[in-house]
Amino acid sequence: MKVFISADMEGVAGVSSWEQVTETHPEYPPAVELLCKEVNAAVDGAMAGGAKEILINDSHGSMRNLPIEKLNPCASLIQGNLKPLSMVQGVEQGHDLAFFLGYHAAVGSPAAICDHSYSSRSLFQVKWNGQTMSEAALNAAVCGHFQVPVGLVSGDQETIRQAQALFPGIVTISTKQGVSRFAACHRHPVLVREEIRQKAKWAVEHLDQACLFCMKTPVEMEVTFTDTARADLAGLVPGTIRQDGRSVVYQTPGIVAAFSVLQVYLLMARSLPA
Ligand SMILES: [Zn+2]
Repeated sequence: MKVFISADMEGVAGVSSWEQVTETHPEYPPAVELLCKEVNAAVDGAMAGGAKEILINDSHGSMRNLPIEKLNPCASLIQGNLKPLSMVQGVEQGHDLAFFLGYHAAVGSPAAICDHSYSSRSLFQVKWNGQTMSEAALNAAVCGHFQVPVGLVSGDQETIRQAQALFPGIVTISTKQGVSRFAACHRHPVLVREEIRQKAKWAVEHLDQACLFCMKTPVEMEVTFTDTARADLAGLVPGTIRQDGRSVVYQTPGIVAAFSVLQVYLLMARSLPA
């Protein structure tokens, strides 16, 4: 029984600003502590439920956030960049179940802490086959491609609402209620961690109730950038069709190819100023 954990940061209880998730800011180290404790709670719960192997993928920003010595030694850790499968790198290694921890809502969501989809600076919207894709949806589609169901999602209330729309019946843990993009009413982290521990255990014990998200193929990916310069750059990728000033369309037969092209667009867009 192998469990994969993709750990983001914006959805952690106690976090409600970019400053807290930016490495160079003084508010970052305490936020990392909060993240680490939520991840450990999930590892503890999964082990209690019968998991034999756990792989954590550090999935926020530089992807070098989690201090390995503070993690439960039962788990292995993927850190750093570049990772072809980004936030779900490692899931392809034959896992039984995936957890999405500390997740946030899709770009453009109201009352959702730090809402964005992979890049707040570059991405205005991403749709696959006409469906708006949050990070959870994109990552779940990759997990689904590798036949790995999602068993648990934690994040703010809007993230939970979106996860439940995507995977009806998914086990969720709400960490806070967004007031606006950068204000939230947080649950106490101690209570959140206890709920994560209990629900991670339950999710492992009830593997048959996890949600396999199968995106239909071929995939038509429509990406709307925050400005025309980013769409200009994306147009350099062979096969990309410019749709209008800020939007491009890319057709691909496979999930991983669509995900890879999106990563290429984002890496290129990163070369441009905000
Ligand atoms: Zn993040």
